[in-house]
Amino acid sequence: MTFATRFAPSPTGPLHLGHAYSALLAQDMAAANDGVFLLRIEDIDTARSRPHWEQQIYEDLAWLGIDWPQPVMRQSQRLPRYRAALDQLSTMGLTYPCRCNRRDIEAAAGAPQEGVPQFGPDGRIYPGTCRNRAMADAGAEDVIRLNMESAVRAARLRSFTETGETYGGQYPLDPERLITTVGDIILVRRGMGSAYHLSVVVDDADQQITHVVRGADLFEATQIHVLLQALLGLPTPLYHHHTLIRDDSGKRLAKRDDARAIAKYRAEGATPQDIRALVGLIEPSPAPSSG
Ligand code: GLU
Repeated sequence: MTFATRFAPSPTGPLHLGHAYSALLAQDMAAANDGVFLLRIEDIDTARSRPHWEQQIYEDLAWLGIDWPQPVMRQSQRLPRYRAALDQLSTMGLTYPCRCNRRDIEAAAGAPQEGVPQFGPDGRIYPGTCRNRAMADAGAEDVIRLNMESAVRAARLRSFTETGETYGGQYPLDPERLITTVGDIILVRRGMGSAYHLSVVVDDADQQITHVVRGADLFEATQIHVLLQALLGLPTPLYHHHTLIRDDSGKRLAKRDDARAIAKYRAEGATPQDIRALVGLIEPSPAPSSG
């Protein structure tokens, strides 16, 4: 099978050094394996996505020396695909509509108990208030959740292979862990027609991705993706979660960290090689000697 990987930014802010690392590493791995590198624009969150950020992504990547086949997959154009995947899960009886807002969830969760995790890779672990609601009752105000207990029972649990430097190894899905540390994740957000976990799984399958290369912050979410792949009958790619690029104080870079925006380095006269050196993909070139 041809090696295929992708870079999947959301056009909700500038690309920064962490994105450059992901994209360059993915492209280098594709080149080393005679494979393909694909670009996907993750713009289902229409309230936060902006055309000028999408444009900036294309410009920054091209400047970095990255190229990708056209047409680019854009999530906003794929809602029927996500709908079909959701319907598949709903037909299996694994989904329910939920009307709780953040405050409802906090109130229902009650006081934190020692040893019981409050947050998982999909945010606050949902206390299950709406779990008995029927899909027939779903309205525009609802999100759609996966009933995790039913899901782990319905799936033929698989394992996934991680090739990244930090977590490298084989990871069997652990039903107990999914129930207690992940919980009833959101499959469709209010007014969005999908949510990250559902879209990413459908897209990786449709783009025939064999190797997902992305930041280590998404490692914990991978068990959700592999579970959804098992439920939907989709293949599980290999995963490679790379270390995160941190700022000088050791904090991980955030989208809003404009100081590390590629556009800013470009404006200051950096070269693509400088960026490769900054993210540790090549040795920094020696400073010119002064005589
Ligand atoms: N769109 C996600 C982000 O910008 C990346 C998702 C992924 O690589 O799976 O963080």
